[in-house]
Amino acid sequence: MTWTDDKIKQLKKLWQKGRTTAQIARELGLSKNSIIGKIHRMDLTSRPSPIKKKAVIVKAATKTQARQMGLLDLKSNSCRWPIGDPDEPDFHFCGQQVATGKPYCPEHCKIAYTSLKELASQKNKEAKAALPAPPPTAAPKAPQPAKGKAKAAAPAPKPSRKR
Ligand SMILES: [Zn+2]
Repeated sequence: MTWTDDKIKQLKKLWQKGRTTAQIARELGLSKNSIIGKIHRMDLTSRPSPIKKKAVIVKAATKTQARQMGLLDLKSNSCRWPIGDPDEPDFHFCGQQVATGKPYCPEHCKIAYTSLKELASQKNKEAKAALPAPPPTAAPKAPQPAKGKAKAAAPAPKPSRKR
């Protein structure tokens, strides 16, 4: 059994369409095992699975679990608000369920968006305070090799030995 470029292309396409390995195997006329093996070798396993997503929602982190959460444990619906000093061992992320459509839990949303607004207004002030840079009065001339110098640098012509 060989994997031709064509079959690999088809495999990729079907996999991205969300077909199961069994369906792909049937379409390509290969065994399910070879499809699974190829998918692993091609590193295609990161397809977002709808089943996984459901599991995440069911496994909503409790407060105690959240305490020990590192960044890697965070789920897409976990609050990523950092708590503590990143250099300290007890540094962790909030990990509570986020407010709908927000990256943080309701509590941290308040903090985040307040400080964001403050930051934005600070930036505005700075932008207003900074005067536009004056236009350059004279464009700096590109350094041009002085003719005399260039000649001097060139290797001296060999004396001709014409007779
Ligand atoms: Zn939070």
